[in-house]
Amino acid sequence: MNLSYACGISEVPLLGQTIGENLEQTAMLHGGTDALVDVQGGRRWTYAQFNAAVDTVAAALLGRGLAKGDRIGIWSPNCPEWVLVQYAAAKLGAILVNINPAYRSSELEFVLRQSQTRVLVSAAANRGTDCKAMVESLRGGLPELEDVIYIGDPTWEKLYQGGVGADLQPLRARMRELSFDDPVNIQYTSGTTGAPKGATLSHHSILNNGFFVAELLGVTERDRMCLPVPFYHCFGMVMGNLGATTHGAAIVIPAPNFDARSTLAAVQAERCTVLYGVPTMFIAELALPDFTAFELGSLRTGIMAGSPCPVDVMRRVMEQMHMREVSIAYGMTETSPVSTQTRRDDDIERRTATVGCVMPHVEVKIVDPATGLTLPRGAMGELCTRGYSVMRGYWREPQKTAEVIDAARWMHTGDLATMRPDGYVNIVGRIKDMVIRGGENIYPREVEEFLYGHPDILDVQVIGVPDEKYGEELMACVRLREGAAALTDADVREFCHERLAHYKIPRYVRVVESFPMTVTGKVRKVELREQAAEWVTQRKS
Ligand code: AMP
Repeated sequence: MNLSYACGISEVPLLGQTIGENLEQTAMLHGGTDALVDVQGGRRWTYAQFNAAVDTVAAALLGRGLAKGDRIGIWSPNCPEWVLVQYAAAKLGAILVNINPAYRSSELEFVLRQSQTRVLVSAAANRGTDCKAMVESLRGGLPELEDVIYIGDPTWEKLYQGGVGADLQPLRARMRELSFDDPVNIQYTSGTTGAPKGATLSHHSILNNGFFVAELLGVTERDRMCLPVPFYHCFGMVMGNLGATTHGAAIVIPAPNFDARSTLAAVQAERCTVLYGVPTMFIAELALPDFTAFELGSLRTGIMAGSPCPVDVMRRVMEQMHMREVSIAYGMTETSPVSTQTRRDDDIERRTATVGCVMPHVEVKIVDPATGLTLPRGAMGELCTRGYSVMRGYWREPQKTAEVIDAARWMHTGDLATMRPDGYVNIVGRIKDMVIRGGENIYPREVEEFLYGHPDILDVQVIGVPDEKYGEELMACVRLREGAAALTDADVREFCHERLAHYKIPRYVRVVESFPMTVTGKVRKVELREQAAEWVTQRKS
């Protein structure tokens, strides 16, 4: 039987270097090539200049007493200093803690405390928020936070000047004490519930993931990558920055935060060949009223990731943005991030209906969540990933780590997926949404899609509610079309009869006005389940 297991092969070996060593190699090979371009700030660095500036920042931080393994936080939108600090931290063996610029004081305080950050590099202000005031108000309560440096402020200048002309011997000595398996980065990820957890990634995991993502795009020192995606996330700092620096390509920063117009303006001005984005970024760029006025002929490839890409958008990106070799990637923070990616020459069907096939040197399998057994090709189950890309664990959370990485070192992603006979993968949904009724796995999306066919149903969410006999029972929460008569359990069962397996037919139908939503417009199934469980209890009593 052909099982849902795939192992990525390649003639190109994994890199056995620290991030600092790899940058020095690139600077040696491509010293005169552009490394970093800040379009709005009008600043640029060649690889020789960039590597020297990284040494300056690293020597300055070392001079402030940072030991191997100490945490350096960075809380800022995209800017050249972000990139300098990323590589400086790696060279001196510190662990960079990425902090989402959208965080506000309680989240910021949580991650600084949980990671025991010693030095924080912060924006002074961002999008009307006075970051400096926020940080200063927290400092008293964070004894481990010894030092804060604000970008664009005299504190940054002072730090930088402290490294100018410094003796680099101590930094060289530190670099010799580092191993590529050392942790280099903590990235906080929240999932749908609970406090954020700090995925801890090594030099080996992120250097190689960035390297292979760019390898699959065919990136070389002649490429110029426009990066409107955030650096605090793997998409920016791994697939972007490390993808570029492992190949001697240029990093082009179009703007601190995403802006469609600045992105296309940067592509045009810098003649970028590579452009990254989540699908909504590409949609916004294509929707600009003067889209056709931008000269985008330099583009060749790029990456779309994070959520599924509509076919029409993919077509337009390939034709109107000239990104014939654009690729789709799937991954998560805990896996550095990419596990599967489409190849440059895949047809449009694979680029829109799948998230690609397994990355080189990575293994992927799809298992039955109940038994843990690998499923045949085509069957739906939980996607698991193993290899260099899997995180070392959640920072200071061994229990939570053990919940997601098993004894055989597989990372259980929580994503429901299928693997086709050709090895390409489809992402179907999140496992937490799956319902187990009397031992049968039910995937809500399948039932939801079926119920959309009912003439009275405008929108539907299918969830599980606790049940004494079956463990869980299925409930459909429906919003009715205007003018539709009230819908009963019996009506829906009648509609499903003979067309759905009996166990997939909802036991309860609950008509609602609206669904609880997140600020980003996703339905909060957790909340919906809580409300539903209450509703069932009341109905029974
Ligand atoms: P994060 O850790 O923030 O990068 O989020 C990772 C999650 O995003 C994954 O577990 C998936 O649920 C989802 N995801 C990432 N890439 C894709 C993609 N190409 N298509 C669909 N979902 C994706």
